[in-house]
Amino acid sequence: MDVGARVHRLRAALDGAGCDGLVVGELTNIRYLTGFTGSAGLVLVSADELVFVSDGRYRDQAAEEIASAGVDARVEIVAADPDRVIADAASAAGITRLGLEAESVTWSRQQRWAGELFDGELVATRALVETLRLVKDAGEAARIRSACAIADEALERCRGALLDGPTEAEFAQHLDTTMKSLGAADVSFETIVASGPNGAKPHHHPGARAIVEGDLVVIDFGALVDGYHSDMTRTLAVGAVDEQRRRMLDVVLDSQQQGVEAVRSGRPAAEVDAACRSVIDDAGWGEAFLHSTGHGVGLDIHEEPRVSTRSTATLVAGHVVTVEPGVYLPGIGGVRIEDTVLVTDDGCDRLTLAPKEPSAG
Ligand code: ZN
Ligand code: ZN
Repeated sequence: MDVGARVHRLRAALDGAGCDGLVVGELTNIRYLTGFTGSAGLVLVSADELVFVSDGRYRDQAAEEIASAGVDARVEIVAADPDRVIADAASAAGITRLGLEAESVTWSRQQRWAGELFDGELVATRALVETLRLVKDAGEAARIRSACAIADEALERCRGALLDGPTEAEFAQHLDTTMKSLGAADVSFETIVASGPNGAKPHHHPGARAIVEGDLVVIDFGALVDGYHSDMTRTLAVGAVDEQRRRMLDVVLDSQQQGVEAVRSGRPAAEVDAACRSVIDDAGWGEAFLHSTGHGVGLDIHEEPRVSTRSTATLVAGHVVTVEPGVYLPGIGGVRIEDTVLVTDDGCDRLTLAPKEPSAG
């Protein structure tokens, strides 16, 4: 990963956003620009300087991580009021139009900047760093691929245990422990294990229900590798399932395959959503597909571009997105199948490779 080059790309975008400096407070954006992985930081990017401010807990870590990422920065460790330090640095740098990340700066904080901290013009910026993050470089793609491979292997090792009648929470923990033993720094998000009727809730919290013969089990999980996420869902059948559940599996599998086949550089993301949705509509379950088709994956588990009916994004080679249609029937259960894919010029490279064959055993 060439972290040091990212700030140059950001500088090139500042003027078009109407500012000559940007305050970056979103931690994933700070990590992207500097390599810093801690939980407190604030950054000023101006024409010829990057100022990084954190507190004493991160004195050594910040200096080490920023240096090892190859980023040229002035690191300031302060006891209090990082906003004041950044505002003073902005004034000293001669910045007159200062961008604040409009999607995350609170109203009260903006008022303090306007009333007390900065004399020049404050500019509400949207997704300046997030836009840079859309196209993954080779190092980023490699990390996501590793995270996906860990999730694949973990499911392969754990899936047979569904036949032993674990509770949802027990199976989720088994999967999480296995991912960590395979090298995941952490889980990508709280693992979803939704069995039987619980499967009708797309984001069910795994609980005390014991998994039984005849269940469909929706398993949505991922691994974290060096800050990068993976995201995969498989729906497994425990023993034989009835005809309606079998049909749900077939329809969602077809929908998901149509979606993956629709992915390629230059295609509107909304068309991928439509490709998935039309199969489910034709099966008569359009109303039971309760969410959008997918989302970008990277340093955040949910990031741009969105793959939805309303998305205005066009897919570009290097985007990493999920394709995850589902059908959810109250009282019966749910089926979702999800892959994380890397968009390429002529299609996509599927990064999650666990078999979609639903048999748990
Ligand atoms: Zn997922
Ligand atoms: Zn997802």
